[in-house]
Amino acid sequence: MDFDLPEDIAQHRDKVREFALKEFTPEIAREHDMEEKYPDALRKLAFDQGIVDFTNPWKTLVAIEELCRVDPGLGISVTVPYFGAETIMLFGSDLLKEKYLAKVNAGKAMMGLAVTEPGGGSDVAGIKTEAKKVDDRYIINGSKMFITNGSIADFFVMLVRTSKPDNKRHHGLSIFVVDSKSKGFSANKLKGKLGVRATDTAELVLNNVEVPADNMIGEEGKGFYYIMTFFNISRIFVA
Ligand SMILES: Cc1cc2nc3c(=O)[nH]c(=O)nc-3n(C[C@H](O)[C@H](O)[C@H](O)COP(=O)(O)OP(=O)(O)OC[C@H]3O[C@@H](n4cnc5c(N)ncnc54)[C@H](O)[C@@H]3O)c2cc1C
Repeated sequence: MDFDLPEDIAQHRDKVREFALKEFTPEIAREHDMEEKYPDALRKLAFDQGIVDFTNPWKTLVAIEELCRVDPGLGISVTVPYFGAETIMLFGSDLLKEKYLAKVNAGKAMMGLAVTEPGGGSDVAGIKTEAKKVDDRYIINGSKMFITNGSIADFFVMLVRTSKPDNKRHHGLSIFVVDSKSKGFSANKLKGKLGVRATDTAELVLNNVEVPADNMIGEEGKGFYYIMTFFNISRIFVA
C-alpha cells in the first residue's frame, strides 16, 4: 500500500512549511504567547497566500501539522477560524451555507463551536443552556465555557436544549447558528492558559438572545447526533 501523500498535497505541505518557518518567527510567537494576543494579521496572510483552504480537508490537515510543528499557538490560531463548519456543511440549509459558511470559506468571517458549559464538557448530554420557541424565533439563555474564538468570532454553532429529555438524556438538544452581535450576547476572554495562548478562548453569556428559527441547523432534537458526527470528523484535526 502506498502511504505517500498525493503529489499536490505534498507540494502544499512544502509550501506551508516554508511559510511557517518564514512567518512564525520566535519573536512573533513569543509576543502572541506572552500577550495572549490572537494573530489576526497572520490569519489574513495565511489565507491570502492559500496556506489555509477550508474547503479542502487534505490541505487543512497538512497545514495544521506543518504550522503547529513550528508553533502550536500560532498554528492553531490561523487554522481554527472554520471550527465547527462541518455541522453547517453536512446538516445546514442552503440559507445558512450562503449566509454564514460562504463567508468563512472566503476568509471574511470567523466562527466557533460552543458546546462546553461551566458545569462540564465531557458530558455533552448534560448541557443546560436553553432555547425556547416564541413565534418564528428562539430565545436562548445560558452560558458556554472555554470556547475557542469566543471573543473574536462572528458567529457560533451552539448546542442548546430545546425540550426536556424523554427517557434518554441526549434527546431534546438542537444546534443553532448564533450571531455574536446579537443583543444579550457577551463574551469574556479567558487569560492564563498553560499553552496555545495565542488562541482566543472565552466564556460566552447568553441573556435572552433571539435567534431566527431559520438558524437551526438540521432538525430539532437531533443536535447531539450532529455534534457527535462533528467530533468524529474534528478529532483528526484536533489530534
Ligand atoms: C484550550 C481549550 C479550547 C477549548 N475549545 C472549546 C471549544 O471551542 N468549544 C467547546 O465546546 N469546548 C471547548 N473546550 C472545552 C473542552 O471541550 C472541555 O474542556 C472538555 O470537553 C472537558 O470538559 P471539562 O473541562 O468541563 O471537564 P469535565 O468534563 O468536567 O471533566 C473533568 C475531569 O473529569 C474526567 N471525567 C469526566 N467524565 C468522566 C467519566 N465519565 N469517567 C471518568 N472520568 C471523567 C475528565 O477526563 C477530566 O479529567 C476547550 C478547552 C480548552 C482547554
